[in-house]
Amino acid sequence: NGQSPIVSEAGRTLIIGSTGYIGRFVTEASLESGGGTYVLVRSRLLSPSKASIIKAFQEKGCHIIYGSINDQSLMEKVIRENHLEVVISAVAGYAILDQIPLIKAIKAAGTVKRFLPSEFGHDIDRAEPVEPGLTMYKEKRKIRRLIEEAGIPHTYICCNSIAAWPYPDNTHPGEVLPPMDCFQIYGDGSVKAYFVDGKDIGNLTIRAVKDDRTINKTVHFRPPKNLLNMNDLSSLWEAKIRRKLPRVTVSEDVLLNAAKEMRIPQSIVAAITHDIFIKGCQVNYNLDKESDVDVCSLYPDATFRIMDDCFDDFLAMLVDNAKTVQKAAGKDNGIIMPDAKREPLP
Ligand code: NDP
Repeated sequence: NGQSPIVSEAGRTLIIGSTGYIGRFVTEASLESGGGTYVLVRSRLLSPSKASIIKAFQEKGCHIIYGSINDQSLMEKVIRENHLEVVISAVAGYAILDQIPLIKAIKAAGTVKRFLPSEFGHDIDRAEPVEPGLTMYKEKRKIRRLIEEAGIPHTYICCNSIAAWPYPDNTHPGEVLPPMDCFQIYGDGSVKAYFVDGKDIGNLTIRAVKDDRTINKTVHFRPPKNLLNMNDLSSLWEAKIRRKLPRVTVSEDVLLNAAKEMRIPQSIVAAITHDIFIKGCQVNYNLDKESDVDVCSLYPDATFRIMDDCFDDFLAMLVDNAKTVQKAAGKDNGIIMPDAKREPLP
């Protein structure tokens, strides 16, 4: 398109899926970094919680565009008219192929200097989970190939696991308290994974899009201090709640059977949980491809929130919940009674 492929400091950024779990962190980080943040919202009829997210973004100077990525001509118009340099998609796992018209629109507009498709997990060209996880990975692979064939400058973000208790059936474990009754330990609990806080994912994603060293690269989040196994996580949480909990082994077969049930999205999570904690998909490869970059090498100054700090947040949430329960029961006597029932799936 004759333009520099480098995103300018003031590069305008469009975020898709900003009412979602990952999208919210990315949008917050983009707004903090300055440069003009636009978000695509599918409908004017939003649930109260989504409406309040959008309102808070608007108050921070975010521009709202209504529409869907399935509408190719609208997306092309939006990209051109707003001079968008960066497009970041964080659409849900069920909407991965909806990105195809968006890719066509980006190619036709010819002005986007960086596109980040909805990834935010594992290196889907390397990992091979069982079904139904594999179908989602195949869809993400298809999106990668279309971007590469179209010659769109891109970055793939592989941020590994969310810093939270990794339940085998919950797509957003960061919204749920860690266990208070017993720990379910996958296999022997020794396989490690990288647990990364949502805010760090958002901030480093936004840092990466304006960095020419990440053009057409896969950025891997591997902070050494965040590499933990299920046994480590259990001990850390026990130290926070100051009591020991029983540990129950969840065998490989139990996870595989949960995957085979084909309940969506729970079975996708079970398949990926199996891939992480039985097969070791986050740690069983080296960053030896020309396209691999390690976020810690790129940004040696970056600090990552460690799991100990993240569990402090969950402890605060637990105390708040207990206070609310006590207040409702008319027993606001300052004694904290943890009530950590598992919340329903989002
Ligand atoms: P959510 O389900 O929380 O949110 C999805 C967002 O996408 C919503 O804002 C939704 O909008 C929007 N959306 C969906 N379809 C369209 C469309 N056609 N046009 C415009 N917007 C659309 O997503 P997640 O945050 O769970 O997932 C985002 C990515 O992160 C996925 O690739 C997923 O696989 C990955 N992920 C990784 C995790 C990890 O542990 N590393 C954990 C969770 C997700 P609306 O509000 O209108 O519904």
